[in-house]
Amino acid sequence: MRAVDVIQKKRDGVELSFEEIKHFINGYVAGEIPDYQASAFMMACCFQPLSPRETADLTEVMRVSGDTIDFSSEIPGYTVDKHSTGGVGDKTTLVLGPLVAACGVVVAKMSGRGLGHTGGTLDKLEAVKGLRTELERSEFIKIVNEVGIAVCGQTGNVVPADKKLYALRDVTATVEDTALIAASIMSKKLAISNKGLVLDVKTGKGAFMKTMDGALGLAKRMVEIGTLMNRDVIALVTEMGLPLGSAVGNALEVREAVRTLEGEGPEDLLKLCVELGAPLLMMGGIAEDLDQGRAKIREAVENGSGLERLERMVVAQGGSVQSLHNLVISDTVCELESLEDGWIEEMDALSIGLGAMKLGAGRETKDDIIDLSVGLEILKKVGDRVRKGESLMRIYYRKKEGLPEIMNQLREAIKSSHSEVKPPPLILAEVTDKELIRFD
Ligand code: URA
Repeated sequence: MRAVDVIQKKRDGVELSFEEIKHFINGYVAGEIPDYQASAFMMACCFQPLSPRETADLTEVMRVSGDTIDFSSEIPGYTVDKHSTGGVGDKTTLVLGPLVAACGVVVAKMSGRGLGHTGGTLDKLEAVKGLRTELERSEFIKIVNEVGIAVCGQTGNVVPADKKLYALRDVTATVEDTALIAASIMSKKLAISNKGLVLDVKTGKGAFMKTMDGALGLAKRMVEIGTLMNRDVIALVTEMGLPLGSAVGNALEVREAVRTLEGEGPEDLLKLCVELGAPLLMMGGIAEDLDQGRAKIREAVENGSGLERLERMVVAQGGSVQSLHNLVISDTVCELESLEDGWIEEMDALSIGLGAMKLGAGRETKDDIIDLSVGLEILKKVGDRVRKGESLMRIYYRKKEGLPEIMNQLREAIKSSHSEVKPPPLILAEVTDKELIRFD
């Protein structure tokens, strides 16, 4: 089989067999197929979209291209995972994970780092002094079994095909293809032996998928793949036109997660955790239906068991309860004030995320060092009434240089209206293997 023939077939819209996809991807990972042929193949996939079957085959070939992590014999019971396609202020894992664990479903989660305007759970967790996210396999399993939840970075050589293909797609304008994105995300999720998965597919300015149609297409394709691979999987399409919650920046987001577990957090963040958590409790056999799942998640906030679970996880991973509650947050602060009376109409999550990144809270390139203590606290959200001179945002910074430009960028991200504005709905659609329900 020649690589050029596989490329030609795809270019001409002929469906590829599993063997052809496997030959091509394995040849590329082994260095036998050069970058220029892999680029041509990826571009052909953008013009002749992969069918659901081809996408599932590509996912499977990528999934087994390196180490897979099967802890099913060492962690008894039903284990779950959650994946977000990334956003601004998205500290959901830090709240949802402990709540689900407190309700009795085991969470064994491998997370990533932030890049560009989006944050990453590992960076946020490392704002807790002493907490380690690099855990040996045996330690990870021990913590999951003892505490019911552990969150760590990916160990070993998991899905090397994605590392190589993603780097190539990034420089050949082939990132934005639904099937390629679905295969990339799901190959990494399915390389780990969790049984249940909830996907949070974000849409809007601060999301990877800017349009509702794009997000729905991605959600459907990922649910299809997960179901084919015998996982219980559900996707919610959620709003990311504006940041989630109020805090953007690592230590600030951990503080907000703790406040949410104390029942004092922003309503949108709690609602998202309730809606993502309810199906996980059903999958794990803890709830009979979504309403019961929702009630149990809320109860774990009210009775403090979610917070207690987070504290136990922090301690097991090397931190302390004291460090969780005494985060290092920059005490150099300034405020962005409203220049007029009105209602907040828009908060561009992309600009706000980039503003936080420029403060030092995020990485422009993979190797940048970030400052965990800086970020933003959003004091007025879309739909809120605001008076001239009132504070819209609190900025926690360390370096003065560049601050005026960042403040200008943040100001431009916020638009206000002279008439009342309704905040946008948070949960826009639900996708299961059986149906798609839109709420927008
Ligand atoms: N995230 C991924 O992991 N892969 C993609 O292709 C896009 C976003």
